[in-house]
Amino acid sequence: MSNSLISQPMFALVDVNNFYVSCERAFNPNLINRPVVVLSNNDGCSVAHSHEVRVLGVKIGTPWFKLKDLARQHHIIAFSSNYTLYSDMSDRVMTILRGFSPHVEVYSIDECFLGLQGLDKLWLTPTNMGQFIRQRIRQWTSLPVCVGFGITKTLAKLANHIAKKQPEFNGVCDLASIPSAQLEALLSAIEVGAVWGVGRQLSQHLNAFGISTVKALRDTPPSWLRTKFGVVMERLGYELRGVSCLALEEVSVPRKQIIFSRSFGQLVYSLPELSEAVASYMSSAAEKLRRQNSICNVIQVFIQTNPFREQDKRYSNSMTVPLPNASSDTRLLIRAALFGLKCIYRQGYAYKKAGVILSCIDSAAKQQEPLFELYGAGDRSAKLMCVLDQINQRYGRDTLSVFSTSKRKSWSMHRGKVSPCYTTNWNDVPIAYAH
Ligand SMILES: [Mg+2]
Repeated sequence: MSNSLISQPMFALVDVNNFYVSCERAFNPNLINRPVVVLSNNDGCSVAHSHEVRVLGVKIGTPWFKLKDLARQHHIIAFSSNYTLYSDMSDRVMTILRGFSPHVEVYSIDECFLGLQGLDKLWLTPTNMGQFIRQRIRQWTSLPVCVGFGITKTLAKLANHIAKKQPEFNGVCDLASIPSAQLEALLSAIEVGAVWGVGRQLSQHLNAFGISTVKALRDTPPSWLRTKFGVVMERLGYELRGVSCLALEEVSVPRKQIIFSRSFGQLVYSLPELSEAVASYMSSAAEKLRRQNSICNVIQVFIQTNPFREQDKRYSNSMTVPLPNASSDTRLLIRAALFGLKCIYRQGYAYKKAGVILSCIDSAAKQQEPLFELYGAGDRSAKLMCVLDQINQRYGRDTLSVFSTSKRKSWSMHRGKVSPCYTTNWNDVPIAYAH
């Protein structure tokens, strides 16, 4: 058999540039070419920013209050993070990518690996395919992406890094198409820390052995990497040499634990207010549980005061509550959480944060029809929860809720600068005027 018939593994990594900022810009073109930051929950720190902010020397994670002077001076525009918008835009990008390959691994909210073994033959060149992907995502979502191609996942990731950093690639880099002399020069100019999985600490260790560039790491014998750094680094060495060791993980593994916790927009003192917050967090956690088609056996609830407010008395506690039967029924889960909350609540403290944890998670398919009618188990409960989820999905979050909450949610997150949910809420859909 001739070699050309053997199809090599081939991967693409597609990554949205500056994802959160790009989502804001997609619906608000006034933000293009202007300095934009997106802030963490309760408008605490910068979690993303545009190129224009980066060149001002701002680091990710800087508290917003420290940026206010700079913001005024340079007209920086700040947004509260709008995860409803970002996750919907992410879904749209992933749906488009599924149109390019049946083998897809959603790696993070804005990154996706495509398995292209054999498929690359359908295209003139990988670069040609990459430009097409870019164009389509740009046209259908307004989001800018970069595409990297490689014969291993690690190389595809590296190619994406190059596509992003070096404008002459025009957003698409196929490592295999670069002439070898040029490739060697390129790899010896990139710091080893740019390699997937090599963090700051590891790159310091590698530097100590004189391995400071991607080329140097690739040229180090994998067996040596194994003795000094272990099997994970050995695998990285092989991947950089073009030996594919990391397979595409197409099936997402259901989570074994679901945590939902938030810091409050302002301090909370009373049990009823805490109960509202805990019930609301539990509703969201239970919805996540049902989305992955699971049930849980144990829940935990926790509350804490602000450890940084030295003028306050400190208190934190948690309680684990086993359920009488495995369930994903919001009513049962809230009941258990509120029971736990009542046990650990102490009057006279200023609470800053609360949360719930669902654990001992099983597949809902394993749930047996109970012998006796059990609260929160069985067919009737499942049907009711299904209706609840459908209504909330269609008419917006909290259209229907299990625990009645007051309109004035003092505990809710402070998000003073949040953009509309352009793509998920009918009231927020942008209106276009035509003449
Ligand atoms: Mg990105």
